[in-house]
Amino acid sequence: MDFNYTENQSMIAGMIRDFGVKHIKPQMKEWDESQEFPVEVFKKLGELGLMGVLVPTEYGGSGFGYLEYVTAIAELSKIDGSIGLSMAAHNSLCTGHILQFGNEAQKQKYLPKLATAEWIGAWGLTEPNTGSDAGNMRTVAVQDGDHWVINGAKNFITHGKSGNVAVVIVRTGEVGDSHGMTAFVIEKGTPGFSAGRKEDKLGMRASETTELIFEDCRVHQDQILGKVGEGFIQAMKVLDGGRISIAALSLGIAQGAFEAALAYSQERNQFNKPISSFQGIAFKLADMATEIEAASLLTYQAADMKNRGLNVNKESAMAKLYASEVSVRVANEAVQIFGGYGFTKDYPAEKYYRDSKLCTIGEGTSEIQKLVISRAILK
Ligand SMILES: Cc1cc2nc3c(=O)[nH]c(=O)nc-3n(C[C@H](O)[C@H](O)[C@H](O)COP(=O)(O)OP(=O)(O)OC[C@H]3O[C@@H](n4cnc5c(N)ncnc54)[C@H](O)[C@@H]3O)c2cc1C
Repeated sequence: MDFNYTENQSMIAGMIRDFGVKHIKPQMKEWDESQEFPVEVFKKLGELGLMGVLVPTEYGGSGFGYLEYVTAIAELSKIDGSIGLSMAAHNSLCTGHILQFGNEAQKQKYLPKLATAEWIGAWGLTEPNTGSDAGNMRTVAVQDGDHWVINGAKNFITHGKSGNVAVVIVRTGEVGDSHGMTAFVIEKGTPGFSAGRKEDKLGMRASETTELIFEDCRVHQDQILGKVGEGFIQAMKVLDGGRISIAALSLGIAQGAFEAALAYSQERNQFNKPISSFQGIAFKLADMATEIEAASLLTYQAADMKNRGLNVNKESAMAKLYASEVSVRVANEAVQIFGGYGFTKDYPAEKYYRDSKLCTIGEGTSEIQKLVISRAILK
């Protein structure tokens, strides 16, 4: 097994580091404070091919696999988790759903626009009363001839306002029936479809999170992805891949926090010595580095299996569970190593700490990952 970056991974990592210096680092503090979603950054990432990493070249994408995808998200998230989260939601969820389950006409219509970031994509599964229990959703679509009329609301939707197109999963059958839900692809500007309240968040503040509202929203049956009744099953498959991207996001945040803490521990003197010379700090760094390596191995294992077309249901949940918990632990220790300065916005540790917490919640909480893993091993 070769754990080194391939040529493509090295190229992507270098490109993102340069991009971060020019286009992210100078403004990321401002975006974080004002909760601005920097659409122009995503347009530029689109020019670099990073908004359609997994999309085949015939649809305008980069045609890379999951190893390159993990590297791209982790490298971006090392700089700014918000940008990593938005890139993950766009690539894995909205674009990924259309790529996996769209028909040829839908792929031709949407993938080139999404892969180049001409359009930003959103994906709506969660509702105010049904998060972990998404299958219990209440947003409903009722058939009316060749059309369906949708009513209800989704919440916590990444790019709910700025997204040009959204894939949404809504109820078309009985509550409690996993085949009672259907996925629709809906464009911004469709009458009856609008964005609601924008969340004011602890972290990931430059990644936009809003409600989606449906009020007698009429959509043609051609907007259905796959077949009626397949939406929930499709969503679970999309999340199997999506969780690899949240593991990568977690990994990047942990690596960024670790690198900052490592450098600081060698510069900061107390008792006339660098604080890294104290075993209490050195052992923290040893634990952080070890956990990051383990998270990286789980994440790249899931990515490699996904590339080989294997079922990654358990492995992506394991990678997401472990990497996200590591991200929070490492960011927490980074704040500790920075001491009082870690508690201020003059140093990077506090942002990593705030951003890391989303990783144990989004695309299924840690508790839900344990449910997925335990179901797989108890089968
Ligand atoms: C910044 C952000 C971006 C997001 N982006 C999107 C998006 O683009 N699209 C989308 O559809 N959703 C998105 N989400 C929603 C996210 O996936 C949900 O928040 C998540 O799945 C948890 O749902 P919930 O918030 O309703 O929590 P709940 O389901 O209410 O959970 C509350 C607590 O109960 C625990 N719990 C629930 N059920 C069980 C159980 N069976 N066993 C043990 N514990 C349990 C949970 O683990 C958690 O600790 C986003 C969320 C955030 C915060």
